[in-house]
Amino acid sequence: MIIVRLALDVPLYRLFDYRIEDDPRLRPGLRARAPFGTREKIGVIVEVVAQSELPPEQLKTARLVEDDDLPPLPPDFFQLCEFASQYYQAPPGEVILQALPPGLKKIRVVKRRKKRRKEAAAPVAPDLPSLTGGQSAALNILRLDRGYAPFLLHGVTGSGKTEVYLRLIDTVLRAGKQALLLAPEINLTPQLEARLAQRFPDIAVAMLHSELTEAAREHAWRAAFSGAARIVVGTRLAVFTPLPQPGLIIVDEEHDPSYKQQDGMRYSARDLAIFRARLSHLPIVLGSATPSLESWSHALHGRYTLARLPERAVSDARLPAVRVLDIRRQKLTEGLSEPLLVALRQRLAAKEQSLIFLNRRGFAPVLACPACGWVSRCPRCAVNRVLHLADRRLRCHHCGLESHIPKTCPTCGNADLHPFGRGTQRLEVRLAELLPEARILRVDRDSAKSRKHWEAMLGEIQSGAADILVGTQMLAKGHDFPRLTLVGVIGADAALFAADWRAPERLFAQLMQVAGRAGRADLPGEVIIQSEYPQHPLYQALIRQDYPGYAETLLAERRAAGFPPYAYQAILRAEACDMMTALAFLQQAAALPCVADYSDVVVYDPVPMRLSRMMNQERAQLLLESASRPQLQAFLAVWRAALESLPRKHRLRWHLEVDPVDC
Ligand SMILES: [Zn+2]
Ligand SMILES: [Zn+2]
Repeated sequence: MIIVRLALDVPLYRLFDYRIEDDPRLRPGLRARAPFGTREKIGVIVEVVAQSELPPEQLKTARLVEDDDLPPLPPDFFQLCEFASQYYQAPPGEVILQALPPGLKKIRVVKRRKKRRKEAAAPVAPDLPSLTGGQSAALNILRLDRGYAPFLLHGVTGSGKTEVYLRLIDTVLRAGKQALLLAPEINLTPQLEARLAQRFPDIAVAMLHSELTEAAREHAWRAAFSGAARIVVGTRLAVFTPLPQPGLIIVDEEHDPSYKQQDGMRYSARDLAIFRARLSHLPIVLGSATPSLESWSHALHGRYTLARLPERAVSDARLPAVRVLDIRRQKLTEGLSEPLLVALRQRLAAKEQSLIFLNRRGFAPVLACPACGWVSRCPRCAVNRVLHLADRRLRCHHCGLESHIPKTCPTCGNADLHPFGRGTQRLEVRLAELLPEARILRVDRDSAKSRKHWEAMLGEIQSGAADILVGTQMLAKGHDFPRLTLVGVIGADAALFAADWRAPERLFAQLMQVAGRAGRADLPGEVIIQSEYPQHPLYQALIRQDYPGYAETLLAERRAAGFPPYAYQAILRAEACDMMTALAFLQQAAALPCVADYSDVVVYDPVPMRLSRMMNQERAQLLLESASRPQLQAFLAVWRAALESLPRKHRLRWHLEVDPVDC
């Protein structure tokens, strides 16, 4: 009998020792069926161990998953998981198991899939678009033959980053290797998929994201792992996909907050991709029009090699003209100024498309009673419920709680309830009244509920079946709308003075992106941003479309304030039924003896979180900061062990987050 240590999908994700019969196939990385409690579970063999701390009579017996042609998970998979486990303070078992497609963790009858050949539609060698001078210059910099090499590809919107990716992937394929391409959102993968299929018609592409059915996801994962798929495209979870012949990693829109996993193990897929590239001696290309300040500062300091695409790819296509319209002296109609309405009418007459960007969905952010002051609070969260007139609901955007819209005030019976503020639905309704001849399409998470809806909408937009798009940031990212020539931005000022110090960085990226939708083909684009603060440096930089200049301003502010990337942070968050319990736990955590041993780590006072109540849980947090990442890491390892031994009040939950993106 041999003893193996298994990662099992059970609470707390501890590793468990089991006996197993000797077998010539036996090695770490294989899966085993293991009795656990009254049930059987599928686990991953992490280690074959000489001895267990448990007495032999307590060891139960596991057996290898039979009928499985899956080779063992490779050592670099475990190394990546081990790094993630240490860095993000998550149990190794949790990292390993969340890295696998759900289908592989289930007990079931193995049904062999018929090998489906991708019907190689007549292998027409696609005509390669000729490269722009900028693309050629960038490709000369992006050398793939030097082992680990991190690159930052800074390309303005419409500069043809994707073409650069395709050329790099082509090089990798010719060398007989695989390429891993990460995209921030599922919404962006269909377009990538189509472009890859067109460019590489004979190459199998594996798509990996959470909206796939379990079977499809497992199939794609297996294709990547077996090497059958030479190109792997996926959202953040794809960063863990084991590849037998990796040759390149690309992280598109590397600044996007979606790369950060916000529950379970909280990791940054972009940062793990960099670690993975280093581990496997791979080149890695981070691409963005507005890189994260972290990556930008790495490039400035020479840790990443910078390649730039400063101009738009289509000859004659210019960057759009950006105008910030001072609305302090404007009469607004439902938030729309007269100059913006005039511009909309011009586009209508010219049969061109317009986009109004308002990053708030729903009809109005709150319903209120002017008689007694009642507002549509969420009973479970510290926020208001949003009025959705399209389906006549009040809905909490944080916990999802919804109800009918009350006919009268629940407190005083007043029948005259008012919606306050403005969301995309309200704007859509009002635009339809103001411009009755326009075909208006609202694009937000309510109207594009599934990938199917979303693809149908994209088709509608691209075919020109809509004149005016009203949308949230869903519309801002990565899509080419050839007839779109006007972008109007309303309601952006709120983010200028948000409590979150990262808000300006995000707003700038978002506005650059949405502005980039205008004038992509041969039609010139115009962007009108309505603001009460037209002189704000953020807007001034937008007018110049000067990312480097604005990044310099923000980096100087961060340096002065001692914020990332000039400091490293972690956050301990606690949730409990009442705030006192949550704060008291954090207080205890801050007073643990080991805190005094790490003078380079600053532990701040516990405070209620900005969203202090969610799903009936009161939430508080404790910020930690250090100028030294190794110091912070060393401290976290010791501290976390101490935290686990703290007595815990009933139903208190806590988690640690390293490199938090909102705090
Ligand atoms: Zn009332
Ligand atoms: Zn709620």
